[in-house]
Amino acid sequence: MRRVYLDNNATTAVLPQVLAAMQPFFGEQFGNASSIHHHGQEARKAVEHAREHVAALVGARASEIVFTSGGTESDNLALFGMVQPGDHIITSTIEHHAVLNACQRLEKTGCEVTYVPVDGRCLVSPDDVKRAIRKNTKLISIMMANNETGVVQPLEEIGRIAAEADVWFHTDAVQAVAKVPVDVNKIGCDLLSLSGHKVHAPQGVGALFVRKGTLLNPLFYGGRHERSRRAGTENVPGIVALGEAAKLAKEWFASGGADAMSDLRDRLEKKILDSMESVGVNGDGAPRVPNTSNIHFDCIEGEALVIALDLKGLAVSTGAACSSGAVEPSHVLTAMGLSPDLARASLRFSLGKQTTSDDIDFALSILPNTVAKLRELSPLWKKKQLATSR
Ligand code: PLP
Repeated sequence: MRRVYLDNNATTAVLPQVLAAMQPFFGEQFGNASSIHHHGQEARKAVEHAREHVAALVGARASEIVFTSGGTESDNLALFGMVQPGDHIITSTIEHHAVLNACQRLEKTGCEVTYVPVDGRCLVSPDDVKRAIRKNTKLISIMMANNETGVVQPLEEIGRIAAEADVWFHTDAVQAVAKVPVDVNKIGCDLLSLSGHKVHAPQGVGALFVRKGTLLNPLFYGGRHERSRRAGTENVPGIVALGEAAKLAKEWFASGGADAMSDLRDRLEKKILDSMESVGVNGDGAPRVPNTSNIHFDCIEGEALVIALDLKGLAVSTGAACSSGAVEPSHVLTAMGLSPDLARASLRFSLGKQTTSDDIDFALSILPNTVAKLRELSPLWKKKQLATSR
């Protein structure tokens, strides 16, 4: 059975070149990067080489890159490492749970948090961020690209506001890196999170950019790894893979990969909008990363559509979270003002670097029929059809 994967915001396939680069570090090049003998030195060289590639991808210096276990750890390190009880944090309502749940925990330990809203296009207003600043504001944490809608936030403006107010600025760029050009100096951020498995490197590796001079406390205590900012023996194969993926991402941008990807995404989106009724793009009209399309299919249960499409070979997802047996609508889509029903009726299509035009054709060949069949079973859809025919 043919299988097409359009869920690259959940995780990406490790690219063959990335796998080839990391493989020796499971075998003959197995050293601990802290050892002073040959094996250790070879591992150290590879880690530092990877650090340069990751730094180059985001416009940082190599010494400003801290390797972590992934996006969640990078976000937690940025937040818990920067604030103390009594400090105030500004974040947004549409952040990933790696930021939102860390903020909730910080509130319990005596920090104050302001969650700025978004508009109907999923955009944070820089003015809202500015207005939220208080005397005790220590950190602003606003994501670069949203994982559900792909909407890119006005970070340069927020960066200027943070600098003027002398407040540290973190951005979760897990869904932006390797999709849009990212430059920490243009953004003006002090901390930036990224994750390996969203950029065609493996799961379990990531990085945090920490601008020189940023007063970050570590989360872990142990050896002096990563300049004492992240104790623990480095994941050498994972780090090498992340370095290779960063190098490939730069080449991909240079060869027009991002434009080709947005052409594919736009074709998918346009065909869906043209061929089906009562559908719409969530986040339409806002700047978006080139790989993501979040679409609502009125009167459909998103989970049911995901399962029906999976049975036909297409992997996509909803932003819904399953809690205590009930499907909660996405906090991102409801923050944008979608009704819980429309949020539940939304699907995320996310392309990867290996997605082909044929994959898009395949998706388009099965979607309309599958949606129509589910709508036939929907009492809400029948009611809507009756109302419009009157
Ligand atoms: N931040 C965003 C925006 C994400 O999309 C994700 C993962 O989905 C994370 C953080 C967490 O990253 P990781 O899975 O590497 O822990």
